[in-house]
Amino acid sequence: MVIHILGSGGADGIPALYSDTRVSRHARQFGGKDVRSRAAALVDGVIKIDFGPDTWSQITREGLDARDWIAVVYTHSDSDHFAIEELQYVLYPFNDYESAGFTIYGNNVISEAIRCRYPDWPFEVVTTRSFCPVQCCGYDVTPIKAKHGSPDEDTHNLIVQHGGKTLLYATDTGIWEEPTWAFLGEHKLDCLVLECTEAFATTAYNGHLDLAEFKSVLERLRKLGTVSGKTHVITTHHSHNGEATHEELVRELEPLGVTVGFDGLKVEF
Ligand SMILES: [Zn+2]
Repeated sequence: MVIHILGSGGADGIPALYSDTRVSRHARQFGGKDVRSRAAALVDGVIKIDFGPDTWSQITREGLDARDWIAVVYTHSDSDHFAIEELQYVLYPFNDYESAGFTIYGNNVISEAIRCRYPDWPFEVVTTRSFCPVQCCGYDVTPIKAKHGSPDEDTHNLIVQHGGKTLLYATDTGIWEEPTWAFLGEHKLDCLVLECTEAFATTAYNGHLDLAEFKSVLERLRKLGTVSGKTHVITTHHSHNGEATHEELVRELEPLGVTVGFDGLKVEF
């Protein structure tokens, strides 16, 4: 499998839309891996994870064609992951296509929002539930319950399995509740993409991970055997409020065998 990180930033990106933080200033000045668009990824070129406001610029930057996708799988409905207005450009009258080449998978909030926004449009929408696998053209996608957002929304992290390989894409989560840990204990990961939104800036909010929490989650996954020495571990969803540049994150995480994610990173496993 190949995971392609299309966006590695938090909700407002880096440099953030309206920000004078040190990290935003650094990104404006130096560019490169410090510029982070809103979090999104692509698996094997065909399973698109999230469809946020930066989708057009990400696929244009990477030379991708959205018509290659067989599935768009949403993690949750926050605006950096779910840009509902962008979906319309997939179909007539913006082109000649009367159906999309991909199936949409989204939780209770997302599937309802698409049905309300596009009542007569021929989107194929499958409602996902945590811990209930769905199959898509040889890929098994199992949403697991993330610790993030409103209690009324079944917010997901995603396990994607294909050809004997297993990926966990865990953007937007604090430290999981016990049912998620128990479920993860039954899996062995070849690749883990884990958020590190808050980095050096510890806050009271428990729906994201700071660096210390990231390390504790990784350590528990290693103790469970879910993550081994062979697992590729990659960070994502970095915020300009996390007070860490890319290089500072590398210094902190490389000794732990963790790859600091960046826009355009591709890892094969
Ligand atoms: Zn987010």
